[in-house]
Amino acid sequence: MKHIETIIIGAGPCGLSAAIELQNRGMEYLVIEKGNIVEAIYNYPTHQTFFSSSEKLSIGDFPFITEQHKPKRNQALVYYREAVKHFDLNINTYEEVSSGRKTGNEFILETSKGRYSCDHLVIATGYYGQPNQLNVPGEHKDKVFHYFKEAHPFFNQDVLVVGGKNSSVDAAIELEKAGSNVTVVYRQGAYSKSVKPWVLPQFKSLVKHDKIDMHFNTEVIDIKDDSVVLEKEGETFEIPNDYVFAMIGYHPDYRLLKSFGVQLNENEYGVAPMHDQETMETNVDGLYIAGVIAAGNDANTIFIENGRFHGGAIAEDISKKK
Ligand code: FAD
Ligand code: NAP
Repeated sequence: MKHIETIIIGAGPCGLSAAIELQNRGMEYLVIEKGNIVEAIYNYPTHQTFFSSSEKLSIGDFPFITEQHKPKRNQALVYYREAVKHFDLNINTYEEVSSGRKTGNEFILETSKGRYSCDHLVIATGYYGQPNQLNVPGEHKDKVFHYFKEAHPFFNQDVLVVGGKNSSVDAAIELEKAGSNVTVVYRQGAYSKSVKPWVLPQFKSLVKHDKIDMHFNTEVIDIKDDSVVLEKEGETFEIPNDYVFAMIGYHPDYRLLKSFGVQLNENEYGVAPMHDQETMETNVDGLYIAGVIAAGNDANTIFIENGRFHGGAIAEDISKKK
């Protein structure tokens, strides 16, 4: 079993930022990542434009310069690869942490490739790997997706998009542009305030001009092979359907946190890990969380923009303890 002072699980932007902060303070660390670096960004829609400016996505004061104000997914992939090279970060990729426990003052981790112990543990595993489920009949069918990549395969197809925030609005706009017959259903009665203000007018215009069929106060009841059954204000109706995009958000995997004894607090969105907001340390001594995992089931409070600063707070606290 290999002993490392601090292990960071997850090489997303926030895990990478934590690695840079530890390295800058001369501390020993290892990042363990189940895919390759910034796996979540790699899995975004192919043509995704960030809502943040490039400067606000940068880590470790390593400049992220793009000609346009808001970078695209591909530019961010290049940037984070270059940042990892620049800082020469210590990362084991394609190694998944499967379980862990705390014994005395040490954390023990089992991975797909071996066993480690560490004095401090930073969990930065995000949420994007676990899409929320509609929990309706037919959701298991091949025609139902929880991620959107590109619109071309859906040209001339009847497509239902579920959800009312940024992923659903973005997917609906791109699908309409590619010639899909798009219906959007949202369970609330009005547009969400979370939808970016420069995107909403475009979406509203498509609805106004009958290019997108928008239904508020509407939920999916059943997904059949050639149709979907919807319920709107107590009435059910059925529309033809070839594909469903359930763009209904994501949630963290709490299994690792729970196995170390981290407590989950109830909030209006579900649950979130208990932690000190100054240091990001959880109720388990020496166990920290970084990035969007700290927000629990609310995807609209922590982003790269602010989660990238968790690493600094964590490294500061670890160095004080030492
Ligand atoms: P992640 O980037 O999700 O990284 C977690 C990493 O942990 C992943 O690489 C994963 O593979 C790894 N992992 C998980 N489990 C394990 C395990 N058991 N063992 C080993 N590794 C594991 N935020 C902004 O600030 N600005 C934006 O413009 C913006 N645009 C977005 C656009 C889209 C479409 C989406 C979905 C999100 C966007 N966000 C944006 C939010 C942003 O993506 C997330 O905030 C960001 O990825 C969070 O970083 P993170 O490091 O916390 O987690
Ligand atoms: P999200 O913000 O969590 O929104 C999920 C949507 O699905 C909400 O409208 C929610 O309804 C609805 N929903 C959740 N569970 C449901 C269910 N069981 N049945 C029906 N509807 C359900 O998820 P997201 O839009 O994927 O965004 C995730 C993160 O990515 C956010 O941080 C977002 O800002 C970011 N993002 C950024 C960009 C960009 O940079 N351009 C693009 C896309 C996403 P309620 O409104 O009622 O909660």
